[in-house]
Amino acid sequence: MSHADRGDAYKPSRFNVVTRAEAGGLVIYNSMRGSIFRITPPTDDRVHDLLHNRNAVLRRDEDQGELFDALLDRGFLVDADHDELAAAEEVSARRKNRTDVLDLIIMPTEACNFRCHYCYEDFALGRMLTSVREGVRNLVRERHAATPLRRLTVSWFGGEPLVAFEVIEELSAFFLSFCEENGVEYSAAVTTNGYLLTEDVARRCLDLGITRYQITLDGPRDAHDASRYLIGGGRTYDTILANLDGMAALSDDFHVTLRTNFTSENDARVPELIDELARHFSGDARFDAIYRPVGEWGGPQDAETGAHSGKEAELRKLELCSHAADHGLSHGDDRMLRPHGSVCYAASPWSFVIRPNGVVNKCTVALRDERNAVGLLREDGDLGLNAERMGLWVDTDDTSDSGCQTCFFRPACQGAACPLVRLEEERRPCPPHKVWIGPTIETYAAMARRTARSKAAAG
Ligand code: SF4
Ligand code: SF4
Repeated sequence: MSHADRGDAYKPSRFNVVTRAEAGGLVIYNSMRGSIFRITPPTDDRVHDLLHNRNAVLRRDEDQGELFDALLDRGFLVDADHDELAAAEEVSARRKNRTDVLDLIIMPTEACNFRCHYCYEDFALGRMLTSVREGVRNLVRERHAATPLRRLTVSWFGGEPLVAFEVIEELSAFFLSFCEENGVEYSAAVTTNGYLLTEDVARRCLDLGITRYQITLDGPRDAHDASRYLIGGGRTYDTILANLDGMAALSDDFHVTLRTNFTSENDARVPELIDELARHFSGDARFDAIYRPVGEWGGPQDAETGAHSGKEAELRKLELCSHAADHGLSHGDDRMLRPHGSVCYAASPWSFVIRPNGVVNKCTVALRDERNAVGLLREDGDLGLNAERMGLWVDTDDTSDSGCQTCFFRPACQGAACPLVRLEEERRPCPPHKVWIGPTIETYAAMARRTARSKAAAG
């Protein structure tokens, strides 16, 4: 729509955040578009005047026409009669009503070769049963026969999924050929501790279509080895780093997210890890880093892990992200600010966790909670879903929460950042980056500026 075709009255979007940056200027963010901009003086005051009053009715003024149009094009201004609440409702409904996608989080085993200090799993189930593997294949066939799938996404999770690599190989071979024959887009990811990801295994994973990897390192060698050790206590850091170097030597297209869980005990050591990882992977766009405060994840060790949350943990997370970006390890966290970016997979009706014994879950954390056992996969592919339990995960969101309906972050979160929090604590699961949105967007805007500058300097 050209500007001439639009109405002549406008208003600031209700999904805007406008904040003064400590470094000067203004940072603006819109959650319907997921865009963040830093506005420098003297334009910052004019933008502030246009956006700060959500109830204002604005008219395009020729004096500042270009600026006005830029804000309109980027969704910071909308037509005065545009129903933004209905638009947000549509975003959420479109996600939930999709029938052309299937996301499977598959646990080929719950066994693990590690015993991390803070782990919440109980390693109760071993390798996936043959009948369950057949059930997975039939589930995909049946889903596609009922309504053609456009996309199948598989995430291998555990335990340590690579401990049962033959299950991954067997099922991946099926997914690849089924999707190829039926014109379904296929993508696969693995969350692994990285210890068994030798160059040979990485090569085989890539051949099986696994292109996204999440691997955790919890600090420099001694700090990591103190929290992420083998059963029986063996060290793991050097092997994981050597495996990552092996991956970096490959010429394939893939993405590795290097995750660091930090607590009040190890967080002072994380910059040393960043420095070391930067020496290995800086400038390789296939590697990036994310940082997560260790929350209370339901394991027996919660009380002693130094778990921390709240503003202090969130600000520390931003500092670590920023430090990593300064060292050439880009980060992927700003995706959480985009539409759908903060919605947990458990909240979508087309996402299922399949455990080795066929139990179907929604959440990968509350593995011992019976409300999370929403079905039992049969060999013929029937998920045996319990509608009432499914509803606990997919319907407790912005549709039933008036606070969420008017929230500036609604398109990104949809009241569904963590259905488990609603179940357990009966409260809104506002994610920390929404609660501390000012420092979050300020940090990301500064990082983007520094990255753009260094790219320009590199020619
Ligand atoms: S429901 Fe909450 S705890 Fe469970 S997987 Fe989602 S975000 Fe994690
Ligand atoms: S849970 Fe919180 S952040 Fe998410 S939509 Fe509701 S009020 Fe907003």
